[in-house]
Amino acid sequence: MSDDYYKVLGVTKTSSEAEIKKAYKKLAIKWHPDKNLSNKERAEEEFKKITEAYAVLSDKEKKQQYDRFGKAGLNNSGSRQNDPFNMFNSMFGGRSPFGNFNVNFTTNNSRVRRKGKSVYCHHSYTLEDLYKKKKISLSFSREKLCVKCKGLGVTDSKYVDKCSNCNGSGMVSRTVQLGPGIISQTRSPCGVCQQTGEILNSKYLCSHCNGKKVVKKIESITVDCPNKLKHGDKATIKGLGNEVKDGISGDLSIQFMENKHNVFQRVGDNLVIIKTITLLESLTGYRFNFKHLDDRVIGVIENNIIEPNQVNVIKGEGINGASIYIIYKVVYPKKLPKEAKAILKKILPTSENVDFKKEYIIGTRKVSKGECPSGVLNLI
Ligand SMILES: [Zn+2]
Ligand SMILES: [Zn+2]
Repeated sequence: MSDDYYKVLGVTKTSSEAEIKKAYKKLAIKWHPDKNLSNKERAEEEFKKITEAYAVLSDKEKKQQYDRFGKAGLNNSGSRQNDPFNMFNSMFGGRSPFGNFNVNFTTNNSRVRRKGKSVYCHHSYTLEDLYKKKKISLSFSREKLCVKCKGLGVTDSKYVDKCSNCNGSGMVSRTVQLGPGIISQTRSPCGVCQQTGEILNSKYLCSHCNGKKVVKKIESITVDCPNKLKHGDKATIKGLGNEVKDGISGDLSIQFMENKHNVFQRVGDNLVIIKTITLLESLTGYRFNFKHLDDRVIGVIENNIIEPNQVNVIKGEGINGASIYIIYKVVYPKKLPKEAKAILKKILPTSENVDFKKEYIIGTRKVSKGECPSGVLNLI
């Protein structure tokens, strides 16, 4: 958490107990979160740090261990489990060191930190983007703490009052007696302060954010393209959602959408081209070009006979080194003239003569795919 306990408190190994105590007191008052409403997050961090350091250096045994072995010598037994507010409290005997300043240790300690709302955005990408591993540039709108008032909403922190309805906790408890001895307690967000625990003096609202504490901003970020990105994928980037004062920023949620491609279909990292060719092309050879995802024009030459639904492969040319598959669809002529049949019979190999029996002659009819039972279609 912290680096060197001595440095944290601004003391040395030879400093006396009293000096260490004095140094801690001074820093603890300086960094108490209740005294640092405008930068509470940092103050909490600092406060924990100095308390952790003090817990070790004020304890003779722990200090000895720490001097000899560093943090490793503390055997995790330590300081971190100490409640920094208890330590602070016991030192000041429960009395507020801030004079009139309102210190409420219990609410401070138990208060649930608010989290900003998530922000959503869409990102469309092309197969070209994916193939070239192009960086993803995103723009989205989110609420950021107003820079003018640093998220106070008013011109000065003295115009911020604790909400009396919820006592500054942002939540209100309600106890309902359901029957003799049966009590139900519910906690719900405070409607007076909208869960902020604060009431702003409307006379001194910040002119930049108009008391909203936040301002809408368009943000742009660039991220690396995930290797296996696919349509419908979602990603979350923590902390890029709406900011809230004294709370944790929300998340940015991105949904990815893949644009349809006019040449390729995608199956995982493989690319598929469906080509429709004529019967003549399937028998005598076929060639075609296509523009690859990196703009290279690739020529394909097929000299061998191509059967209907034949699949050919080009290895290594898919995404991430996968393959391109070409599925050939062969279109047959609807009719053949007699002369053509005669020529074909001469040149094409014939099947062996079948013993044709004329006992029954039954004609067939072409059926559409829709007429076919699916079990029959599966056999095709
Ligand atoms: Zn309230
Ligand atoms: Zn403002």
